[in-house]
Amino acid sequence: MTRSGIGFDSHRLEAGRRLVLGGVEIEDAEAGLAGHSDADVLTHAVIDALLGAAGLGDIGQHFPDTDERWRDADSLELLRAAVAMVREAGYAPANVDATVACEAPKLAPFRDGMRARLAEAAGLDPAALNVKFTTGERRRFVGLDERRATVGTPPL
Ligand code: MG
Repeated sequence: MTRSGIGFDSHRLEAGRRLVLGGVEIEDAEAGLAGHSDADVLTHAVIDALLGAAGLGDIGQHFPDTDERWRDADSLELLRAAVAMVREAGYAPANVDATVACEAPKLAPFRDGMRARLAEAAGLDPAALNVKFTTGERRRFVGLDERRATVGTPPL
């Protein structure tokens, strides 16, 4: 039986933090994502999709942000652990399709690296792990306020 799951995540931008997406550090980013782990929002969403497909709850249930074990954790390690849970439940990932909504920086140059790292951690061929990018056309949904605060421009 084929099952599917949906994952979603969003983190606040914070100056001075590393920006890590899909296991890839985006160098020269103006700000990174705040969070207990490395705040890799893309990997977190993939984890939730896989856990959801297998009926295994969500990332916060298995890797709570109150647990010191996960402080500054490499989210790819969390993905490996989640895939092990999925396999333990009798399933295996077959395909992942993910979308990152982000105004800046441009992420396309990092796509192949994200696909390779996520695929390796999920036990998939990179061809079965798609990563898409979109912006919010500078409307409020995709972090416009935080980005403007970061660059010192008043919000609309
Ligand atoms: Mg998260």
